[in-house]
Amino acid sequence: MNKNDHDGIWVFAEQRNAELHEVTLELLGKARGLAGQNQGKVTAIILGQGIKPLAQTLLNYGADSVLVADNPVLDPYRLIPYSLVFEKLIKEYHPEILLMGATFMGVELAPRVAARVRTGLSAHCVDLKLDKDGKLLQVVPGWGGGVIATIACPDHRPQMATVMPGTMKPLSPEERKGEIKEIEINLPDKDLGPKVLEIKREKAEGLPLEKAEVVVAGGWGVGSREDWKQVEELAGVLGGAVGTTRPPVDEGWAEEGQMIGQSGKTVRPKLYMGIGISGVMHHVVGMDQSEHIITINSDANAEIFETSDVIVVEDFRKILPKLIQKIRERVER
Ligand SMILES: Cc1cc2nc3c(=O)[nH]c(=O)nc-3n(C[C@H](O)[C@H](O)[C@H](O)COP(=O)(O)OP(=O)(O)OC[C@H]3O[C@@H](n4cnc5c(N)ncnc54)[C@H](O)[C@@H]3O)c2cc1C
Repeated sequence: MNKNDHDGIWVFAEQRNAELHEVTLELLGKARGLAGQNQGKVTAIILGQGIKPLAQTLLNYGADSVLVADNPVLDPYRLIPYSLVFEKLIKEYHPEILLMGATFMGVELAPRVAARVRTGLSAHCVDLKLDKDGKLLQVVPGWGGGVIATIACPDHRPQMATVMPGTMKPLSPEERKGEIKEIEINLPDKDLGPKVLEIKREKAEGLPLEKAEVVVAGGWGVGSREDWKQVEELAGVLGGAVGTTRPPVDEGWAEEGQMIGQSGKTVRPKLYMGIGISGVMHHVVGMDQSEHIITINSDANAEIFETSDVIVVEDFRKILPKLIQKIRERVER
């Protein structure tokens, strides 16, 4: 099939326990905007069990049609059945573009699907555009962090991208009509890989980073596990959550789930405070949409200052104990 015969933008509607992941709505908003540029159609693909009622929500958030695969074999999520269903649907319907969230599910599923249908994939995109010929331009932070690279996939279809949650905005929902089509699934049990016997959920501790109005993030400049406690204390007195760059995770001062940036989470709090963070693009793409950004760095030329509203050029050890003390006094007053 010629690539010119491909049509439409597909969005993988990620859900767990029949609850849509927010990135699904963000992707639908973006897809709607892109489709508006070339009169294309937006189709949401939803897989799982008991998920039919979500189809109308997907229409309301911007899909023109929804393909629903509602089958016990698709619940809970498993890589092999999901990628087999996508392969079948792509070969049947020939979408021009396929978007997934850069979530735990999306980053596993997207490359497997891309390999099955022999196309390319741009991972962890922070923006998507169409060029004048309607080709998808996929914007990703480049290697080394200092540049943004724009990638196009000229020869293979669908053009596939995973997109960082939180980087795009959902539309306001409105009652919309569209086609809801159910897909027959007939997957032989023996080819479906490991079975899920039990799911144990870890109890989340503290405030979820993505929902916090205040985020205090620490970087490599914090220097030690002992001093990391100051970052946690500041977040505590401000009623916020603790974020991190990559090095404190590698050192074991912070958890992987607290990492902000290209391979971590995207946050948009009212206040972001960065302590001992240099401002490499890999981190900045995850926090630069915060409402107010205050950063402390001992290097007057730190890159993070270019993204900041208020900068403090100082050793954080001279600032944080006094700041924590002052805030505590105010709270107690
Ligand atoms: C593919 C890829 C993906 C990545 N994804 C991510 C990601 O999602 N998130 C992420 O964060 N990183 C990510 N990284 C790592 C990223 O490139 C940087 O290495 C990392 O963000 C740097 O962290 P940092 O700013 O804490 O450390 P550094 O760059 O080492 O900066 C430390 C800063 O602390 C300052 N400092 C030192 N002492 C003090 C002091 N006493 N007081 C005040 N300031 C002080 C220094 O001046 C310096 O600016 C990724 C890398 C790659 C290759």
